[in-house]
Amino acid sequence: MTTPLLRWKNRYNIPENVYIDLRHALREEISVNSGAMEAFISPEASSNPSEIHARIAYQRPDFIDAARDVENISYQQQPLEPQRNIQRQITVVSQVPHQLNPVSSCFRCRLTKRKCDQRQICALCAKSSIFPNLCIRVQFTENPVFQKWQETKYESMLAWEHLSLWSPPIKAYLRHFEKGPIFGITCSLFQLTSLDPTYLFHKTTKGWASIPTSPYALFDPVQPERLEIYIEQYVDFFLGENGSNEAWLDVILEQAKSYLHEPLIYQTLKLWSAHRLLMKGWGLTEPSLGMPLCHDRNSMLCGTTPAPRVLQNQLDRLLEQFCASQELKCLIQLQRAMFQRKSAQWGVIFIVTILLLHIRERDIWRLLYWVLTNDNKYQWRHPTKATELVSKSVYVSNMLLAYLRLGMKEVPEEFGSVRTLMPPNGPAKDQYNWMHESSVDFSLCRSAFEDNTKPFIPVSAVNFGCS
Ligand SMILES: [Zn+2]
Ligand SMILES: [Zn+2]
Repeated sequence: MTTPLLRWKNRYNIPENVYIDLRHALREEISVNSGAMEAFISPEASSNPSEIHARIAYQRPDFIDAARDVENISYQQQPLEPQRNIQRQITVVSQVPHQLNPVSSCFRCRLTKRKCDQRQICALCAKSSIFPNLCIRVQFTENPVFQKWQETKYESMLAWEHLSLWSPPIKAYLRHFEKGPIFGITCSLFQLTSLDPTYLFHKTTKGWASIPTSPYALFDPVQPERLEIYIEQYVDFFLGENGSNEAWLDVILEQAKSYLHEPLIYQTLKLWSAHRLLMKGWGLTEPSLGMPLCHDRNSMLCGTTPAPRVLQNQLDRLLEQFCASQELKCLIQLQRAMFQRKSAQWGVIFIVTILLLHIRERDIWRLLYWVLTNDNKYQWRHPTKATELVSKSVYVSNMLLAYLRLGMKEVPEEFGSVRTLMPPNGPAKDQYNWMHESSVDFSLCRSAFEDNTKPFIPVSAVNFGCS
């Protein structure tokens, strides 16, 4: 019988003694019967998700998954850190969660350069016939959403820093989309000390499934500058023929093209693109590094050769770090642009706000699996629960929307038709389909197009399944 381990050995001419050593190590050092392991990781074995879950739960207590959508699975039995007290349902935007640092003057007073007072709703806001609830003393640059990826404990899991590399480095070429830009890396085989890094999980219409992956890890660190160039190439790629698969968003992207000379627009497009890459996952062009072409028509990976598990983790971590720092950069620039109050900038401000909201809604969509399912087989890896992350994202997005309402007289004319192109309203939790990103309900984005003379109604996290 030709097993995946044997095929891997033959393909890369692994010396017999190394192959025997590996089998020996698996059997002796971590008590794994390599014959049983072969059966376990064979493609046939992955046809029944519940059986796989049961096997994983039994065999792999310390497993961490690689696929983006299961980034937060953990089997670690350690207690979670205390949850942050993030306000779950927002009725009044002026209520400030305690972890955010309120500033002394509200946004309206700062915008109009008036003196603010310390009442919960300041005198100027209270006098306002519309939006008295928009007395906001928190800056939306506080506590950005993707700061979640800068948790040290979480990051170190993805870094795989203590692997023992043993083969000569080889060059490999990866990409995210067919015909998209390609990213070169050097990688090397590492010694397996657990089964943890040998599986890649992927979404299928029937649930999670796994494929075996070869033990490759980065040999040379990836320079952030190189990754940024790759992301920039994907900005061009997405703005080219590829679009976004959403008619309304394509109008926004088309408008963004005419503002590419504006640093804020370009920086936000980079964030939007990097986050899209994170959602997609890394595929291999050549060599295949012993990874199989996925033929499973029910899988999101169908037709691609996914990169090995550890490489996915290591490279995704870099994308996440990029997103975290880029988001903050964009928010600071956006806030500055809002305070400058130049009417010529409103097109830029509007596009940037929509793109930021879209990125967050796409990210919330990815988290919804964990909010809406009681998946007792897994534990959440991130120190903050999925529901808390969604609630926080909704909260700070409402803040951003409120700033937009206060600062902007009306929706810029060129975006007048966009609202009609948007799909019908959610609620998000009812529209959710874990296989289709198109099931994002866009209630945050839609709110930006609301008539500016109507009262501002914050989007509720309850729509996203948060209680
Ligand atoms: Zn005020
Ligand atoms: Zn106020």
